[in-house]
Amino acid sequence: MTLASPNAKKPRTNKRVHNSAQKRQPDPGVLLAWYDKHARVLPWRARKGEKSDPYRVWLSETMLQQTTVKTVAPYFAKFLRQWPTIEALAKAKLDDVLRAWAGLGYYARARNLHACAQTVVARHGGLFPTHEDVLAGLPGIGAYTAGMIASIAFARPVVAVDGNIERVISRLFRVEQPLPAAKPEIRRLTNSISPQSRHGDFAQAMMDLGATICTPKSPACVLCPWSEPCAARKRGDQETFPRKTPKKEGALRRGAAFVALREDGYVLLRTRAEKGLLGAMSEVPGSDWSADFNLDQGRKAAPQLGALDWQRRAGAVMHVFTHFPLELTVFAASVPKKTAAPDGMRWIKLADLAGEALPNVMRKVIAHGLLNFGVEAFELPARKTKNR
Ligand code: SF4
Repeated sequence: MTLASPNAKKPRTNKRVHNSAQKRQPDPGVLLAWYDKHARVLPWRARKGEKSDPYRVWLSETMLQQTTVKTVAPYFAKFLRQWPTIEALAKAKLDDVLRAWAGLGYYARARNLHACAQTVVARHGGLFPTHEDVLAGLPGIGAYTAGMIASIAFARPVVAVDGNIERVISRLFRVEQPLPAAKPEIRRLTNSISPQSRHGDFAQAMMDLGATICTPKSPACVLCPWSEPCAARKRGDQETFPRKTPKKEGALRRGAAFVALREDGYVLLRTRAEKGLLGAMSEVPGSDWSADFNLDQGRKAAPQLGALDWQRRAGAVMHVFTHFPLELTVFAASVPKKTAAPDGMRWIKLADLAGEALPNVMRKVIAHGLLNFGVEAFELPARKTKNR
C-alpha cells in the first residue's frame, strides 16, 4: 500500500482506538532514532551508507516468511555462495534449488523463487522492478514481500505489514477487532504513523521492534521507544493483543511410511509429484495421507522389495502442516545388498541423505525409522514461526 501524500487529508480516527493513544500518536522519528542505535546486524541488511541490494532483500524476505532469522542465516549464506546473482539463480536447476532449500519448509516458495529469478532475468533484464505493484506480479511475491522490497531496496513510500507489525500496532492502539478482520485497520494505523522519508528504515525498525522488544510473550516495554504512547502498555494487557479469531484446525490425517535400509548403507527414496503439497520433494515410500486411514490398508503401500520383515516402529511421527496435522506410522526393514530399487524409486547413500531435497516431515520419518538399526541420520534444523 502506498502512503498518503503529506498534504492528503488524515484518515478518520477509528472508534476502537483508545482515547489516550489518540492524544499521543507514536512518533516515527523516535522509532527511527532507536533504530539508528539498535538496528540488528543481519547478513542481508545494508550497513549505514551502503545501498540495499534488491537480490539480497528479495532472497531474505522470501526465506523469512514463516521462519526465524536464526534459521534463515545459514541458508541465505549458502544460496549466495552457490548463486551470487539473480542470473546465476535463474540458470540453476530446480532440483538443486530444492535441495539447497531442504529444511526451510513451504517448498512451493523454493519453486517460486526459481521461477521469479527466471522471470526477472527474462522480462526485466535481471533488474527487479522498483514499483510494488509490478513486484507483486512476479512469481511468489505477495503484497507484503513486494512492499518490503520496494521500501527497503527502492525507498518507495510503502507500508508492508506482517505478523510483527500487526502485533506492535494492535498493542500501540489496542485494536479490539480480531485478526484477520483487523488487517485493513492495522494497515491504516501503520500508515497514519509512517514517516515522510526513510521508508525502508521505518519498515525494518518496525520489524526489529517486533522481533526484539515487542515480542509475543513478555514484551520488554521498559526498553521500548514507544512505551509512552502505547495504549496496551498503559492498561497492562499487552500480551492479549493482537486479538485473534480462534482457528479451525484441519482434521488429523494419518498414513504409513516405509524406511528400507540396504545392508550396504543405502535408503530407498522416491520423488513426489511435481504439483501439490511438497511437490517435487524426496520422500520414503508410503501410503496416502487421509483422515480415514486404515493401518491394514496402509501396510499394502510397502515397496515391492521381496519378502521382508517390516517392523513397526514404536510411537509415530507427528508433523503439523498449515492446514492439517499429520501422524505417520513408520515401518523399517533391512534389505539385502544388491536389491534393485522398484520403478520410480532410487537408493541413496546414508551419507548423501543430508543433501537430498527432503522436507522436514521426511527427515523425521527417516530419523525415526533408522533408529531401528541404531543409525542416526541427521539433525533437524530448528524452525519457528511468526516472531522473526
Ligand atoms: S510498549 Fe510494550 S506493548 Fe507497547 S509497543 Fe512497546 S513493547 Fe509493544
